[in-house]
Amino acid sequence: MAIYGKLALEMILYFAMAKKTIVLCPACSKKVIWEENPYRPFCSERCRTIDLGDWASEKFKIPGEKVNPDNLPEEEQESSEKEKTSKKK
Ligand SMILES: [Zn+2]
Repeated sequence: MAIYGKLALEMILYFAMAKKTIVLCPACSKKVIWEENPYRPFCSERCRTIDLGDWASEKFKIPGEKVNPDNLPEEEQESSEKEKTSKKK
């Protein structure tokens, strides 16, 4: 632990002297140099893609019942929308 801490400190000092900003990749926690990284805050295109994929799958994950696209009641939704608007008037 002490050795690792010393190494990390030396790295920080090295990059601080070189005026580089080090950030940790949110996907794999690897140290990346902010200024030189086109994929920041990620270390690589791969990590950026992984993170976006996770985000997308979280967003579109539907808990509970599976929805069958063939059974979507589109017509019902449309008619109920019309009812709502007609009731408002
Ligand atoms: Zn990474």
